Amino acid sequence: MPEFRSEIAALTPYEVGRPIEDVARELGLDPNSIIRLTSNESPDGPFPGVIEAATAVLVGSNRYPDPDVWDLSHGLADHLGVSRENLLFGAGSTALVAEIALALGGAGTSLVYPWPSFIMYRFAATWAASRAVEVPLDDQYRLDLDAMAGAIDDSTRLVFVCNPNNPTGTVREAAAVEDFVRSVPDSVLVVVDEAYYDFVTDPAYGTAIPLAIELPNVVVLRTFSKAYALASHRIGYAVGPETILQEIRKAQSPLTVNQVAQAAALASLGQPEEMERRVAANAAGRHHLLGVMAERGLDHASSQTNFIYFKMPGDDSKAVGDDFSRRGVIIRPMSKGWMRVTVGRSDENEKFVRVLDELLDTASE
Ligand code: PMP
Repeated sequence: MPEFRSEIAALTPYEVGRPIEDVARELGLDPNSIIRLTSNESPDGPFPGVIEAATAVLVGSNRYPDPDVWDLSHGLADHLGVSRENLLFGAGSTALVAEIALALGGAGTSLVYPWPSFIMYRFAATWAASRAVEVPLDDQYRLDLDAMAGAIDDSTRLVFVCNPNNPTGTVREAAAVEDFVRSVPDSVLVVVDEAYYDFVTDPAYGTAIPLAIELPNVVVLRTFSKAYALASHRIGYAVGPETILQEIRKAQSPLTVNQVAQAAALASLGQPEEMERRVAANAAGRHHLLGVMAERGLDHASSQTNFIYFKMPGDDSKAVGDDFSRRGVIIRPMSKGWMRVTVGRSDENEKFVRVLDELLDTASE
């Protein structure tokens, strides 16, 4: 057996949400009876016109994709009101998280991020041979920005600000993020991960994109996987200073965003009414499920996203996840009894509530 880097050998591979077919095979269930509320995906298909645009480029499958993402970068730059030099695309923002860490990490460096938060930050720190500094959330399950500022030292090269935060769904207000970002020395890159930006309805929240354009050390990450319903295509992007993005690009695999994803993302833009309809449906489902959690007396975080973080009786999250799966609802076990459920269509949300009530009844027997 070849000898792997010890820190890589010690990892458990990144666990993604289990596919419906996998759970159906294991439990002998009909796949049509199972719903998947595990990975914060959109319950709806792609935006109107996307399938046609994606299909149209398949004829060019023998050619490599456009390395400069020309058409999409122009469309997205117009959409965001930035220049295309301020954009860098990746195979999902997951890939960008890793590439940014690889570009900045290395022996003797550290990387600061909140915890619990997006598990990819932890992987990225390990892959980049950078020390992970995990800063606990505050008592409302929000980023503790003061504690994060206090965790930055001379070894820090990179800070992840997950806003909204996954898995808690909480946000920090725009003014607090701005104060934090301005307090970080220019020698440290601040990455504000806004994967769930579109779902937020709290008026105190706002994007950090203007800060990424103004300041020399701020990058914002966005993705087409969530509100734009393109998770399968693996496309996300960074917005920030051109000089920083050029350095990150050196740590990227070439041709990382395929042509179908580029076409699908471009066709998704410029449909504000469709986006509003989807965001409103999500907000209604979220409001309903948060009400259910409150009525049942379950601890939960006040989500602004398309998922909810809540606590089931007992400490065994995995066992609770298995109980939900056996009843045809796949949700994400976290730790110490905490779970994360994605807001689905209303019929899916109702099924989740039915199963939740069954399990709570069993737990109290
Ligand atoms: N950031 C956060 C906070 C996320 O939760 C996710 C998705 N799990 C991502 C980034 C990455 O999404 P993708 O790679 O699909 O763009």
